[in-house]
Amino acid sequence: MRTLAVIGSTGSIGRSALDVARNLKERFKVEALACGHFSPQFCEQIKEFAPRIAAVNDTAGALELQKAFPDLDVRSGPEGVASLGDSADVVVLSVVGLAGLDAALRAVKAGKRLAIATKEVLVSGGELVFREAKKTGAEIIPVDSEHSAIFQCLAAGGRESVARLLITASGGPFRGKDKTFLENVTVKEALAHPVWKMGPKISVDSATMMNKGLEVIEASRLFSVPAEKIDVVIHPQSIVHSLVEFCDGAQLAQLSVPDMRLAIQYALTYPVRLPSPVAKLDLSEIGKLEFGKPDMENFPCLKLAYEALKKGGICPAVLNGANETAVARFLKGECRFMDIPRFVEKKLNETVNIIDPDLEDILEADRFGRE
Ligand code: MG
Repeated sequence: MRTLAVIGSTGSIGRSALDVARNLKERFKVEALACGHFSPQFCEQIKEFAPRIAAVNDTAGALELQKAFPDLDVRSGPEGVASLGDSADVVVLSVVGLAGLDAALRAVKAGKRLAIATKEVLVSGGELVFREAKKTGAEIIPVDSEHSAIFQCLAAGGRESVARLLITASGGPFRGKDKTFLENVTVKEALAHPVWKMGPKISVDSATMMNKGLEVIEASRLFSVPAEKIDVVIHPQSIVHSLVEFCDGAQLAQLSVPDMRLAIQYALTYPVRLPSPVAKLDLSEIGKLEFGKPDMENFPCLKLAYEALKKGGICPAVLNGANETAVARFLKGECRFMDIPRFVEKKLNETVNIIDPDLEDILEADRFGRE
């Protein structure tokens, strides 16, 4: 029996992770749960999984939780949430944004398996997290569907024989739209993703294609492959989750119906595969899969992410910080959809780069990006 912590348990990935844990009760014991705010849903999770520890980011919420569960070890605030990083054998990290960096560092420093869904942590602090993981031998296993696909394909050939990573992208809700359309996009339109049901931040990122840009950086960090060897392929059906091209020209892909539980379960049970409740793929039923090139002109966020990755140093952290701020403002109706790439580009242009940044440099770059 292995213990499991889910940091961000009420979000869409966190709920799926608990569903996986529910199906694998005889293998995983939920030891710790964390969320942003106290909610009836979180209470239900505590009742069902009976963790030893729970954390709520919002301090007032933590007090309420303690009242509801007097015997539970309740922790509060960002520090309380981060303290769950080394609380279990396997740590699922699925909070939004760079807030997850502390927990990720704790997990790898303690040599735990980090099943990571929070791409911002790898984008901004990836080098640092991997440096620490190397010291302890901690495993970092991707939960993002594309990176899980690449991780699975890499099992078929040595890392030294990899020629290229091909990351698929659904293209989001505005695939094929032009500049005039994009200038007038509303929040509601941006939140309506055609394939995946996700939180608001990542839905907007999918609409601007910044999500794919962050995933390119994330892939570069996870698999030590430079920007020049990572391509994005538009694939609206989201059946092929990504591919690896090897030096002999063979391309391997991982296919399944779009259901995050598959990637989460694999991150938990790797290298073992177990039966799952995920619906089986029937290609003859689907009939047709389409592929195309990404539109970097109308979706400049993707281009900006490539630029930040090539420059390296603190640029990815600035890109991420600026994007988090711009998306939050767009969601509040304080700026327009195309102001998101404009703001990110402005911040990148103003950045004085630092190569080989430490934690302080990264946090400072993140603050600068958000200003
Ligand atoms: Mg993804």
